[in-house]
Amino acid sequence: MSYRIAVLPGDGIGPEVTREAVKVLEAVGRRFGIPLEFEWGLVGGAAYEATGHPLPPETLELARRADAILFGAVGGDQWDQLPLELRPEQGILGLRKELDLYANLRPVITYKPLLHTSPLRPEILGDGVDILIVRELTGGLYFGQPKGQVAPGLTVDTCAYTDDQIRRVLHVAFQAARKRRRQVVSADKANVMATSRRWRELAEEVAREYPDVELRHMYADNCAMQLIRNPRQFDVIVTENTFGDILTDEGATLAGSIGLLPSASLGSGRAALYEPIHGSAPDIAGKGIANPLAAILCGAMLLRYSLDRPDAAAAVEAAVQEVLARGLRTPDLRQEGCRIVGTQEMGDAVVAALG
Ligand code: NAD
Repeated sequence: MSYRIAVLPGDGIGPEVTREAVKVLEAVGRRFGIPLEFEWGLVGGAAYEATGHPLPPETLELARRADAILFGAVGGDQWDQLPLELRPEQGILGLRKELDLYANLRPVITYKPLLHTSPLRPEILGDGVDILIVRELTGGLYFGQPKGQVAPGLTVDTCAYTDDQIRRVLHVAFQAARKRRRQVVSADKANVMATSRRWRELAEEVAREYPDVELRHMYADNCAMQLIRNPRQFDVIVTENTFGDILTDEGATLAGSIGLLPSASLGSGRAALYEPIHGSAPDIAGKGIANPLAAILCGAMLLRYSLDRPDAAAAVEAAVQEVLARGLRTPDLRQEGCRIVGTQEMGDAVVAALG
């Protein structure tokens, strides 16, 4: 039986980079004997144009049936005037909601040949950093009620978390740590926030189920500083929605180009969703110059987290390292002495490096 991968390329550079990710997955599937079946669907502006809705029922159905979802990007100026519920972003927001995707995993990895693209000094990065940030996606300030103006001159956001919401994302972090260096930093504001104090209690409770993983608590503001001062101290960082939003973006800048960073969103159901952290990049769409490595590395995450094939995932990551070490660069990574290639050629090079 084959694994079913729902492929939702979306808009702008989404289809260009997703095509390369599928090409690499097909190659790695052949090499490792992993049977993969790809089913393509419409999402975002492309879906709106074809069906009148950014997340048509058939796409949702496809995503629900799948073992994993490979997502490109959505959005574009031409849809900016649409009412909120029809805008392309509803494609991804709707999928997160409908599939209860509650844990966002973002690796922050610096690649040796690209260390110069990081804003941090080489002596801080050393051989490079390899951090996994796990962000809670469904609770906290962004969703808590009441929200808005509750009385004349008084506007509120409510930070609310159930114990279950906190526990399940902590489990994701501890399980991920077991596949890595077995260290979890839980970032909170337990000095001032009640939800953080509860988060800290539950982190202690969940940690007892993982005696082989070390847990440290860190205030989120200190964590933001430590990411810049000494990023190599971190293995897995787990945190709530708002702190995670900020810390993941900070992490992204450490790694250099946005075109390199994949992410995974895991949910309570079967399928997890994998998407590059970049958007649809309308400024370069259709030119064949988008960096496909973030999308390709999404494929590696898919192999690791959804198909439990760390061997195949590591092969894809090694192939990416190899093409970078050989000096191939898309224009966003332009560097003296390197060869500039387009989206398709970069994908082909990764396939070739897979052997
Ligand atoms: P963006 O990430 O699309 O682009 C920011 C800059 O990075 C641009 O200069 C772009 O050319 C460059 N860039 C992005 N990805 C690249 C890649 N793979 N290779 C080379 N360069 C790359 O962000 P934006 O410009 O703020 O947003 C553009 C559209 O994307 C908007 O409609 C926005 O709503 C949407 N968006 C979608 C998602 C998503 O689908 N999850 C996420 C963010 C933004």
